[in-house]
Amino acid sequence: MSTSTSPPAASDEAFLGEAIAQARQGLAEGGIPIGSVLVVDKQIVGRGHNRRVQAHSAILHAEMDCFENAGRLVAATYARATLYSTLSPCDMCSGTALLYGIGRIVIGENETFTGPEEYVQRRGVELVNLNNAECKTLMADFITANPELWFEDIGETGETGETGESPV
Ligand SMILES: [Zn+2]
Repeated sequence: MSTSTSPPAASDEAFLGEAIAQARQGLAEGGIPIGSVLVVDKQIVGRGHNRRVQAHSAILHAEMDCFENAGRLVAATYARATLYSTLSPCDMCSGTALLYGIGRIVIGENETFTGPEEYVQRRGVELVNLNNAECKTLMADFITANPELWFEDIGETGETGETGESPV
């Protein structure tokens, strides 16, 4: 599934690389390997990674950690910002991006998880999916090893109803 509304810029791969570095840092800390950076005028103003496990946090998805680390920004700055995330942002993170009027979101992939992308686009945000193999592999390996942490992160029980399997 393609979510691109315009071709990615040359720098998008480089900034996604910074988000992947954040994801790898989170993995090294024992966390879920999702990373994010916030970029304004080609400068990284915030970096973050999922820290729900590390900080026993209900809200520290990568994008929320990134927004928090960027600190308070004025509306005009958010409007020029691009949010990079290794994974399609969930309801919470997409909602925060909409609240602050983020103009552009670039994601590594949306096969592991797909947030409310159509809604975000309807609200006027440009959404670009770089379909990055490294992002997919990071999550696939993590979910195989830690399925319970992943389902907790996205607010699901892990019972898909498709396989008939129940969590042990
Ligand atoms: Zn999220």
